[in-house]
Amino acid sequence: MKIVFLALTLIAGLMSCAQQPTPKGDVFKTSAGNLYVYHVGHASVTLTLNGKVIQVDPYSAQADYDTLPKADLALITHEHGDHLDSVALAKAKKANTEIITTSTAATVLKDAKVMANGESTTWGNIKIAAVPAYNMVHMRPDGRHFHPKGVGNGYVLTIGDFRLYIAADTENIPEMSELKNIDVAFLPKNLPYTMTDEMFIAAAKSFKPKVVYVYHYFELDNLESIKKELATDGVEVRVFKK
Ligand code: ZN
Ligand code: ZN
Repeated sequence: MKIVFLALTLIAGLMSCAQQPTPKGDVFKTSAGNLYVYHVGHASVTLTLNGKVIQVDPYSAQADYDTLPKADLALITHEHGDHLDSVALAKAKKANTEIITTSTAATVLKDAKVMANGESTTWGNIKIAAVPAYNMVHMRPDGRHFHPKGVGNGYVLTIGDFRLYIAADTENIPEMSELKNIDVAFLPKNLPYTMTDEMFIAAAKSFKPKVVYVYHYFELDNLESIKKELATDGVEVRVFKK
């Protein structure tokens, strides 16, 4: 009987592990440990460092967050439904999950810590800076930009000697050229909300990350020419294969 009970416990344990696999992803060595970077889809990214999980803009349309690791920290870039998804966030959360977001999104996320563009904080041994994310060109028919300046946050995470930039919904804004020593960046590319291919290339050229992931895209028709163009600046373009 005891053996049966132990066997059942073991099976139950394996099943619960199976429900929350560590997502596959790219690994980057940092002086603070190995950082696992996984593009869930659209603007959703999972970062794992020393067993701690950061979920960026969890979105139900991209994954069932019951099947992904629970977040120790959730970074929400802005209030649009493909970034602030309360259903996905509820699934991604556990009891002590911390949330960092914008003042607009915090009208929904009451327990979140609010960061404005230009502010910095620390979470464990990670420094987090909120940086601007906005449109300069693309706008709604009524003339309002899809992402007005000062509303959304991109985030720069400094993890030991390693710097990761999540750009959020933005165009190739001048503030990008002030970004220094970015190892990995996620830049959005789609119309009409974020960047054209040309804007994407200009954005990456303005701060030259070692690796840039294309995210928030609808299609990647010109991926090879983007790769070729950015290779001349030493920027490696990557896309997660689903
Ligand atoms: Zn948006
Ligand atoms: Zn979006």
